[in-house]
Amino acid sequence: EKLFSGFSKTRDNLAVIDELLLYWNLADTDRVLDELEEALLVSDFGPRITIKIVESLREDIMAGKLKSGSEIKDALKKSVLDLLTKKGSKTELQLGYRKPAVIMIVGVNGGGKTTSLGKLAHRLKKEGAKILIAAGDTFRAAASDQLEIWAERTGCEIVVAEKEKAKASSVLSQAVKKGKEEGFDIVLCDTSGRLHTNYSLMEELIACKRAVRKVVPGAPNEILLVLDGTTGLNMLPQAREFNEVVGITGLILTKLDGSARGGCVVSVVDELGIPVKFVGVGEGLEDLQPFDAEAFVDAIFS
Ligand code: GDP
Repeated sequence: EKLFSGFSKTRDNLAVIDELLLYWNLADTDRVLDELEEALLVSDFGPRITIKIVESLREDIMAGKLKSGSEIKDALKKSVLDLLTKKGSKTELQLGYRKPAVIMIVGVNGGGKTTSLGKLAHRLKKEGAKILIAAGDTFRAAASDQLEIWAERTGCEIVVAEKEKAKASSVLSQAVKKGKEEGFDIVLCDTSGRLHTNYSLMEELIACKRAVRKVVPGAPNEILLVLDGTTGLNMLPQAREFNEVVGITGLILTKLDGSARGGCVVSVVDELGIPVKFVGVGEGLEDLQPFDAEAFVDAIFS
């Protein structure tokens, strides 16, 4: 429901497609596809995907495979669903067999990193896992305070820096060691999120990754990039940079309950080939949901 209401603007932008397809006939194909292209662009699908979708519809129409407006609409929905669920892209967390599993949460400030970490801790704890939180954002003083509130709210233990300006990598290393010694199932690591153009942030993330791997071979099991779903296509360069530097294994798209930009979700998945694992649909404990591509497609097309 929250996802559905969050995508009302995208749905409105795409609603024009229904009217167009209602009166579609073969002779009208070029005009209809031009308008469809426009609607997809306005909805933040980005030029690459828009062209891919429109041209494949054109081919199928010309080949006589799509014979009515409703068949075209179904094919459109299916092509978006296919883009979101490429073969081999795993939407469930892949936590391996070694304990503790380590999940690093990365992303720029304000995107919803801390909130998502808290909600994820709650979800995993409810599933029965023993969770340790690591306050790896040592750059922003308020970040550990905020995380401590989440730790209390979710009833999870937390490791915070012992001194000011401690290195993020040493906090994470200390947390993962504690996790290993004390039998935690999962260590959830927060990281700093000052501007992604800041090169030293990227160096810090590499150091964090190295530090946890030294304690648990193969860790981190997941590096989840948190992206603000209301920022539209701006999220693409950001996502690309994080991926190049640390190798993202999954996405958490936040604020999809607000006025989310539906098309860019498809763009970012297609461009990076990284699955969306969770979506944030509010600020409460229960407001992190596993990504459901079909529900997403239903929410953006009326
Ligand atoms: P961080 O700087 O990346 O750690 O971001 P925060 O977790 O502090 O979140 C920034 C703001 O976005 C806060 O006011 C959060 O309550 C809000 N927020 C985070 N996720 C969501 C979401 O899924 N939906 C809504 N509506 N707000 C969110």
